[in-house]
Amino acid sequence: MRKKVFRRKSRFRFRIKNRELIRICAAATAIVFFSLVLLPLFIVAFFPTEDGEIVGKNRGSHTVTLYRHQEGRVITLDLEDYVAGVMAGEMPASFEMEALKAQAVAARTYALSKIKRAKNAGNSAEHPEAPLCDDTHCQVYRSEEELMNLKGKEWMEDGWRKIRQASLSTAGEVMYYQGALVEQPLFHSSSGGKTENSEDVFVSAFPYLRSVDSRFEGDAPYQNESVSVSFGTFEKKVREKYGASNISIETIKILSRSEGGRVKEIQVGDKVLSGRDIRELFGLRSANFSLAFNGKEDIIFTTRGYGHGVGMSQWGANGMAKAGYSYVEILQHYYLGVSIELL
Ligand SMILES: [Zn+2]
Repeated sequence: MRKKVFRRKSRFRFRIKNRELIRICAAATAIVFFSLVLLPLFIVAFFPTEDGEIVGKNRGSHTVTLYRHQEGRVITLDLEDYVAGVMAGEMPASFEMEALKAQAVAARTYALSKIKRAKNAGNSAEHPEAPLCDDTHCQVYRSEEELMNLKGKEWMEDGWRKIRQASLSTAGEVMYYQGALVEQPLFHSSSGGKTENSEDVFVSAFPYLRSVDSRFEGDAPYQNESVSVSFGTFEKKVREKYGASNISIETIKILSRSEGGRVKEIQVGDKVLSGRDIRELFGLRSANFSLAFNGKEDIIFTTRGYGHGVGMSQWGANGMAKAGYSYVEILQHYYLGVSIELL
């Protein structure tokens, strides 16, 4: 009888121990889960990350109203659908993800600053119905359906997926300079080695559009492109457009260059023109050019880079991404002093 009681007790104790063990295991699992999963999530959600990216505020869902020129009507769409539809025409989808993300933030910032200005000053006379339109007047936008027709199924599965990812992973992020939304997040294909101060190319000086080195453009096309123009054509075009006279090889001379290397002033006969004038007149890829003469027959322009050279160089951004820079670092390199924040 005694023996039996003892046995029962023993089994009972054993059961208790087993439960304790389960409790200890559960507590240990909870601690591990908290420190490895919940705590990092909490830190990432509420504190800025190392490279200054602010995450964790409500990325929200924002909508934009857009005037579609061909249809002659206004549509309302999700901001990130809009951003992706703009990016599809701005940067090759084959570019690195961090470069695509930088482009997404630039496109979003441009759109939001236009919407903000329209709120204060009214919509543009070009489209009084909406703050944004879908062509080069604002930013070229294509819907998913239009892109499917334009680029095909393969591109949609690969390129479009990447572009959507770049847009969604930066959802709601825009650039600010000293507390104000950046108004002119300009970009171009490649700078030729150095970007330009905005006032050297356009009228206005913006503190974040300064000339900076663009060191990672090694893969960019049009690094040294030569264009030959016969002297007769050159003389005729400059005379007709600018009324210049006394044009000869001796009276064609580059007088000054901007900080980024573009021709600022060029003497042509009795006129002083800008590098941009010459670029537009002869369809040059860039105003960063040098001159050579082939006897008295031809003028040879050799250009560096492609585009106006202000703001972010897309090929430079792609090169930086390949070298391991994040989209925030890329943006802060090309747009001086900006911070990336949520709307
Ligand atoms: Zn517009």
